[in-house]
Amino acid sequence: LIYQKNIGIKSIQEASQKYFEEKVESIFSSGKYKLAMEERSYLFSLKELLESIVKKSKNLRQEGSRDHRSIPGGSYTSHFYVNRRYDELLRSLELTFFLTKYFEQSDRDGQRVSVYALNYGLCSKFQIQFGRPTESREDRLHFMERKFDYNSILVEYMKSNQEIRCSNCDEEYEIEILEVLKRFHMKCSNCGVGICKVVNLARKYSDIIDSVNANLLLPDSELGILHTLHGEKRKMVASEIAVELDCSGQLVGRRAKNLSERALVKREQAGNVYKYELTEQAKAAYFADTLTDQLNVESSRLD
Ligand SMILES: [Zn+2]
Repeated sequence: LIYQKNIGIKSIQEASQKYFEEKVESIFSSGKYKLAMEERSYLFSLKELLESIVKKSKNLRQEGSRDHRSIPGGSYTSHFYVNRRYDELLRSLELTFFLTKYFEQSDRDGQRVSVYALNYGLCSKFQIQFGRPTESREDRLHFMERKFDYNSILVEYMKSNQEIRCSNCDEEYEIEILEVLKRFHMKCSNCGVGICKVVNLARKYSDIIDSVNANLLLPDSELGILHTLHGEKRKMVASEIAVELDCSGQLVGRRAKNLSERALVKREQAGNVYKYELTEQAKAAYFADTLTDQLNVESSRLD
């Protein structure tokens, strides 16, 4: 019987993976999607977004299986949550079955969030364990663990999407060929007269960015810790951060633990205290306002 059951699960997984590869994943390579989307570049940025999400779930799964004994069920990483206002950004991935919105609820800090599940076939393909542990009552809250807070991925996504476009004929170019275009003084090869400009796709999302100030997604004390670490640009212990924020070391310790569960702060033991530093993810999501200037083509000349 067990043998039969295993065969059953395995064939379902294989079938889901096959379905995923043939019907869902192929959307990115076929033109089907193009009809529904205003801009092709949007498709690429969407793929990038999905890749970041899947990468994070895979990493969490790997960490989860390493800590198997300390965190039971740590290898279930098929679900994640984001602020409800980001639903709009994820809708295209939902309409194409990469994601399914699972439910809405309040997170541990009282923010309304949406919980999403990754496609089952996708999970089979990338060895992400689907579902949640069911051994104890607390398991119902599995998806609300802070490590499944993916808000920073969406913030980073909105800030970093740029494209090149001709101001005359509207032809679009991949950002990868920027260096080539520069060599031709950004002249459009399609119409021959227009000059190409780097456009920040984030403008498309400016309404959402405005309505959800990334800073509002974290309590003040946690933001204070991030800002202190960013300003000092070094590893700090809780008591040092506490001096800056005029609060207790214990408070900083508790809050910094939350931040490390969200992968916004690296927490490393140094003797009998912890040292904290910002992660790349936190830097990109909270301190990368200058990203819009990153591809400043005006100032570069290649002679
Ligand atoms: Zn042109």
